[in-house]
Amino acid sequence: MSVPRSPELDAISGENAPSRQSVLIVEDAPDLRFALTATLIDTGDSVSVADRGDSALRESYSGQPDLVLLDLGLPGLTGLEVCDSIRTLSDVPVIIFTTTTDVAEKLDAFDRGADDYIVKGTEMAEIVARVGPALRRSSSVKDDAPEPYSDPALHLDITSRTATVRGCVAELTRTEYELLAALVKRVGQPIPASQLLQSVWGPEYDSEELVKWHIGRLRKKIEEDSEIPRLIVTRRGFGYMYMRPGR
Ligand code: CA
Repeated sequence: MSVPRSPELDAISGENAPSRQSVLIVEDAPDLRFALTATLIDTGDSVSVADRGDSALRESYSGQPDLVLLDLGLPGLTGLEVCDSIRTLSDVPVIIFTTTTDVAEKLDAFDRGADDYIVKGTEMAEIVARVGPALRRSSSVKDDAPEPYSDPALHLDITSRTATVRGCVAELTRTEYELLAALVKRVGQPIPASQLLQSVWGPEYDSEELVKWHIGRLRKKIEEDSEIPRLIVTRRGFGYMYMRPGR
């Protein structure tokens, strides 16, 4: 369901935000859904909402949002099922809402293609701070487009933002693509995890766990054996390095 903006809000932010980006909020708890909707509309985003997993899927297909905020415990379909289905068709950034700090649950969500997580109870200001950079990643226009990259294992197509690995197109999310592009930009040089976090997620982020988990997922998609990575290697206590493979 689409949430109409009030004329007052349009008058305040409409002129300054000619290309408003759209956020799909999927949350079955009415209070939280309302609070999130009001907050994001206030920041100038266009918002649609869903209170069930199945209607969230329909809304994500028909509305083509730029970002999905996804509760995990939902009627209809679970948030994880919704995330799975969204990923079969779209690389839209998905931020999940969790009620716990359960690591296994987060890893499960990342395995299904979630880009980030927010623990419920987080301040609205913090949520806005996380949504902003995710929307910027979602934008197809990059200010500093990296050079094209090619080696015997990997080719990055800058225009379509796709990665071809050993001749096959890798199904990367936008975040995974950005992470890989940041690594190959400095091929052969170790990059601190904190720097990858800043350049891919943005200055508002401080959890290097995000980098670690997404590197793990990236390895599953581009390495021949993700247990023995040869392209993205770890420099213990420092960060990660993309190694150009030999022929
Ligand atoms: Ca719920």
